[in-house]
Amino acid sequence: MAEKIILTGDRPTGRLHIGHYVGSLRRRVELQDSGLFDKIFIMIADAQALTDNADNPEKVRQNIIEVALDYMACGLDPAKSTMFIQSQVSELTELTFFYNNLVTVQRLQRNPTVKQEMQLRGFNDADGADNKAGTPVGFFCYPISQAADITAFKATTVPVGEDQEPMIEQTREIVRKFNSIYGPTLVEPEILLPESAACLRLPGTDGKAKMSKSLGNCIYLSDSADTVWEKVRGMYTDPLHLQVSDPGHIEGNTVFTYLDAFCKPEHFDKFASCFLGKKVCFEFHSLEEVKDQYRKGGLGDMMLKNFLNAVLNDTLEPIRQRRAELEKDLPYVYEVLRKGSEIARQAAAETLAEVKRAMRINYFEPGVIEELIASRKA
Ligand code: ATP
Ligand code: MG
Repeated sequence: MAEKIILTGDRPTGRLHIGHYVGSLRRRVELQDSGLFDKIFIMIADAQALTDNADNPEKVRQNIIEVALDYMACGLDPAKSTMFIQSQVSELTELTFFYNNLVTVQRLQRNPTVKQEMQLRGFNDADGADNKAGTPVGFFCYPISQAADITAFKATTVPVGEDQEPMIEQTREIVRKFNSIYGPTLVEPEILLPESAACLRLPGTDGKAKMSKSLGNCIYLSDSADTVWEKVRGMYTDPLHLQVSDPGHIEGNTVFTYLDAFCKPEHFDKFASCFLGKKVCFEFHSLEEVKDQYRKGGLGDMMLKNFLNAVLNDTLEPIRQRRAELEKDLPYVYEVLRKGSEIARQAAAETLAEVKRAMRINYFEPGVIEELIASRKA
């Protein structure tokens, strides 16, 4: 049976946040521990991060260890998952160069995620003649480099958030095109999206459509309990819910979206007391009951935010503690990445050799020169 292989990753442009956690990280740990996969590759995408941070390499460099700490704090285990740094696997760049020929500029221009990201970064605002604005070519082409990352490891499964859908589609197109021109070589990956709507694209604490490092609306996995409370307290809820007794809205209410993403049945037993420093009984037995009460009126935002804070910290506290432990031995964490990068490089080199063979640019492999000479037209 064909091997089942995972490839996924994150840009080291900052620490990881709870959007990453529900969108991809939590699922990765589950898949890792399920034992259903033959190989798992987790990539810290520094080269991709440089496509829109070329002038700030230090930010990317410094965040590599932060992402690795977040990974391992969440339960990614180097004995089961290969964690590696993208730039250390130069085979990926070579693959990208060959795939560039299989994608049109017009196709790249249609990518909705890249379009949005260009907008967000102000890349559309100028012609870029001064190299300060405009779209870096590398950024524009990053979906192709992502196809190289995925196919280099023959990934069958890519667990990611919804914003990555166009990238996986682009990868599948490249695979089909490559295989149809050069013969069956590459593997078409499947996207694995989070199950619940709240996790597909977790909104920011400001209520904006996506929690994102670039938007500064994040709750980070490494935030202290105090910081989490500060952020939760300031969260956007329902602007029409002014008095506790007013009926409230659930749709578009970020506090409920976060509860949808994080609340588990056991939280109702666990947190049925002690909110706002007072003994307040939170007399609900399910999230549906909480929602009903909020809709009817009579459930205050502060009470609700206290409950969310407790629910979030229930997940975040063990992560914080593991992170603190790992921080005591940073050389070990770097060593995990060094070893992982070596393993990743071997895997990518095998695929690159197959790709070159399929493309018939493997001149110095045994027998090829003889064949070339024999087929030469005089
Ligand atoms: P940047 O702003 O630098 O692009 P980011 O916060 O968007 O950073 P990425 O490194 O681009 O994070 O994304 C890593 C992974 O996390 C991807 O699989 C992406 O789909 C997922 N992800 C990121 N943000 C969210 C979110 N708010 N909700 C769900 N998944 C998310
Ligand atoms: Mg992103």
